Amino acid sequence: MNFLEERIVKDGIVKEGNVLKVDSFLNHQMDIALFDEMGAEFKKRFADANINKIVTIEASGIGIACIVARHFNVPVVFAKKSKSINIDGDVYKAEVESFTHKCKNNVIVSRKFLGPDDHVLIIDDFLANGCALQGLISIVNEAGGTVEGIGIAVEKGFQNGGRIIRNLGFHLESLAIVESMDATSGEIVFRQQ
Ligand code: 5GP
Repeated sequence: MNFLEERIVKDGIVKEGNVLKVDSFLNHQMDIALFDEMGAEFKKRFADANINKIVTIEASGIGIACIVARHFNVPVVFAKKSKSINIDGDVYKAEVESFTHKCKNNVIVSRKFLGPDDHVLIIDDFLANGCALQGLISIVNEAGGTVEGIGIAVEKGFQNGGRIIRNLGFHLESLAIVESMDATSGEIVFRQQ
């Protein structure tokens, strides 16, 4: 087991409905030393990529993305959830269905902060069905930028997102891939990588 898998086993809680709760160290209270280790690992895994921007999505991707960005020495842009329909045309937008909240959000990025010169590493905390990633990919594409890679903390390998994104040809690296988890016993099995 790697450092993140060990932490998930120690502090993660398996909930009904295929939800893994990691709010004591990843997406509510945040363990910055752990994020720093994640940043170093992503830097290693994307060593050959020429990355000049990190893109993530509000809210829980932001903390991780900021620490990862220190390792790449690049800025972070996060897609904002927006209720209002922006009619000025000064934003890129995508519709993202939330796995955890079961609702659809419009997410937007200002045209000022993403463009054809950008070589992007997308970072997020979880990958489930891949909706959040597909929204972020479509925003980078709309901007004319290039997705150089995608870094995920926890992929739920028993859901479709990872397969869809890899089949599209993206370089996707997940630090922990949960193969199966059981809410009754609390058992979590990771994919060997
Ligand atoms: P997807 O769009 O891939 O279906 O879901 C990814 C998003 O849903 C992530 O940004 C994450 O915030 C949230 N998410 C999906 N599955 C889980 C989970 O098991 N636990 C937590 N805490 N968040 C999840």
